[in-house]
Amino acid sequence: MDTSAHLLKIEHIGIAVEDLAQAESIYAKLLGCDPYKREAVEREGVLTSFFKSGPNKIELLEASTPESPIAKFIAKKGPGIHHIAFHVEDIRAEMARLSELGFKVLNEEPKRGADNKWVAFLHPKSTEGVLIELCQEISDKEA
Ligand code: ZN
Repeated sequence: MDTSAHLLKIEHIGIAVEDLAQAESIYAKLLGCDPYKREAVEREGVLTSFFKSGPNKIELLEASTPESPIAKFIAKKGPGIHHIAFHVEDIRAEMARLSELGFKVLNEEPKRGADNKWVAFLHPKSTEGVLIELCQEISDKEA
């Protein structure tokens, strides 16, 4: 069995927020720690902020443009859980495997996401309403 072809663990949970500074102060209180990084992903129109809580990671996402997927999500559903991200070791193999199984992979190619990751998404229609992110660490030689 190819053990690299799996969703190996939840890498982080992404939460769509209206006001990043306000959300950061709420989550800092909740988790008892400050965010360890803020990062803009301009191509996606998002500003992100990451927290570590024990082995878990939370990503807060604020829209940086009105066309941002986060702005659309909030307009439709309000702030809340936006996606669940899974750690994978071979993102292309996973994209191919899941697409073969009938999941709707939203990206032709992995793209550069926040926090040094290659990312790709599965359409919520094929996963019971949850946007799933696959993410693979970008290696030093690719960076
Ligand atoms: Zn994410």
